[in-house]
This record gives sequence, C-alpha cells and structure tokens, in this order.
Amino acid sequence: RQAQYRRLRSAPSTTRDGRDLTLLINSGLLVDLPHLDESGAAGIGLFRTEILFMVAHSLPRVGEQEELYRRIYEAAGDRPVTFRSLDVGGDKVLPYIRAVEEENPAMGWRAIRLGLDRPGLLRMQVRALLRAAAGRELRLMFPMVSSVTEFTAARALVDKEIRHLKRHGHATPDAIRLGVMLEVPSLLFELEEVLSAVDFVSVGSNDLFQFMLAADRGNTRLTKRFDPLSVSFLRALKRIVDECERAHVPVTVCGELAGRPLEAMALLGLGYRQLSMPPAAIGPVKAMARALDVDRLRARLLPRLEPGRWPGHMRSFLAAYAEDH
Ligand code: PEP
Ligand code: MG
Repeated sequence: RQAQYRRLRSAPSTTRDGRDLTLLINSGLLVDLPHLDESGAAGIGLFRTEILFMVAHSLPRVGEQEELYRRIYEAAGDRPVTFRSLDVGGDKVLPYIRAVEEENPAMGWRAIRLGLDRPGLLRMQVRALLRAAAGRELRLMFPMVSSVTEFTAARALVDKEIRHLKRHGHATPDAIRLGVMLEVPSLLFELEEVLSAVDFVSVGSNDLFQFMLAADRGNTRLTKRFDPLSVSFLRALKRIVDECERAHVPVTVCGELAGRPLEAMALLGLGYRQLSMPPAAIGPVKAMARALDVDRLRARLLPRLEPGRWPGHMRSFLAAYAEDH
C-alpha cells in the first residue's frame, strides 16, 4: 500500500471521468513541511498557526512570527499556503497568556471572538503575515466566524495593517485573499452575504458537525451515534458547495472528513473539488479519486438528498456504492 501511494505521488489528482481535484495538506508545525514534498500535495490548505504559538515558551514577537511564516513560504515554494489566524482560547491555551475559566470552552471566548475583542494579538499576527508574504500572495482565513460582520471587522483590521506597513515603507503582498472558516452553523443562514464579502471559504467540518449536532467532537461516547455521513449534514455540505459555485467563490473542505476515503468520495459526489487533509491521507484519497467516476456517483447520490423521501442510511449506501465501483 505504502509503495502504491508513493508511486501515486506524481500522478495527477484527476478522477476517472476527468475532473481535476486539488488535494492539499493540513499543517501546523515547521517539522510538518517536508510532508508537502513527500505527499505530492498541491499546497497547504490549512496552516493552524496556533500550534506554533502553543509550542513557544513566550509570545512570539512580530519579527519572530514573520521569520516562521517566511520559512513556511520557502518550504511551499510556488504552492499556495492558506494561513488560519490564531484559533486560541477555550481549551487551546497559550501557557504565557492568562487563561479565562469557561464552562464551555469550545463555545467560549476563542478564535476570532478573542481576536476582535483584544485586537493586539491578531494585529501583530496580521502584520507579521503581511510582511512575510511581501512579493507573493497572502491567503488568510479567520476561524469561528459566526456572522459576516465579524469577517468585515477582521478585513478592516487587515486593511489598517496594510496602510500601516505602506506608511512605514514596507513591501506588502502582491495579492491578498481573505476567507472564512465555515464552521459555525449560523453562517449557513447568512451564506449569500458571506459569499459576497469573502474571497474564499473553507469548511471546518469538525466544528461544523460538532455544533450542528450539538455533539462534542472529542467525546468518544458520541462517535458511534452521530455520523457526518448523515442526511442532515450531507444536505448542509451540499448547500454550501452549491451556493459557493453559484457565487463563484472557491471552497475547500479542511476538516478530518476530507482525509477519509469514503467521506472524501461523498464530498466529491456533492461537488467539492478542493480537499485539505492530514498528509498521510493524500495517497489513499488520491487512489480513491482516480478510480471514481464522479458523475455516476452524483447521479445516484443527489436524488437521495432531495427533501421529502427518507433516503435511508447514507453511510451504508455510500459504502455499498464504493464496494460496487
Ligand atoms: C475544523 O473545525 O474542521 C477544522 C479544520 O479546524 P480545527 O480542527 O482546527 O478546529
Ligand atoms: Mg475548527
């Protein structure tokens, strides 16, 4: 198997019926970067910057952050990198910043909420990213956005930092693309407004699923009971990809779903073409995709998701489909 996946490294990520896919890796540490070459991925679809902060002994200053981000760009070369702004707070505590006690940390004062309420940290990070991306494209997305107004506030913060850098004679990126993680269900009901505000969307299926089903993602007692390959979740994922397509906004799935072959097959069937996953998943997902006739799967999958008729157990249907094809 391992040898088979290695051989696939330079093979195109194209389905049997000729659909081109973009397979990307999730990353968060500099030691992960060699995986980019080893996996043959097209780039980094999710760089979890908070991991760099969690392993540091003290808060990395702007210059130190800039250096870290630059090393990531160097490792990526021409391949795109999508950075995610700090997803700290809640249960991801930085040892050098006083934590607040919260009863429900996953739903607490974290990520973009903290970033906008105490903008010092986010501003430093944005400044470092803008500097590191000088002369190339900066792709940055914000975690846990629950309303388009949070995104516009984050964009305003970025704009202010760009003006600051220009005023001080610093070079800035050639292009800046800002996006949201779609992982809080409320955003699904502002999708039109969100899509006219952002440059791209990345579906954080881990959190989106946790919050849609009200099921703690880390609680193993619940893993069997709640299945992401369920009707409600597949319908939500389908709406997202349909709306993104209609609005011509690029969309990626970067939750764990994208790295599991059966789940990735379902995502391709729904219409997703960009998936970001742990490096070790690239081989298995590519092998699945190259054997898949997406249009045939779509023709079987989509009618089942139409409302009105209970479609039965979706995982069994998809597993049987994968088995037969
Ligand atoms: C997600 O929520 O799906 C995601 C990719 O982000 P994280 O797992 O870091 O919360
Ligand atoms: Mg998340």
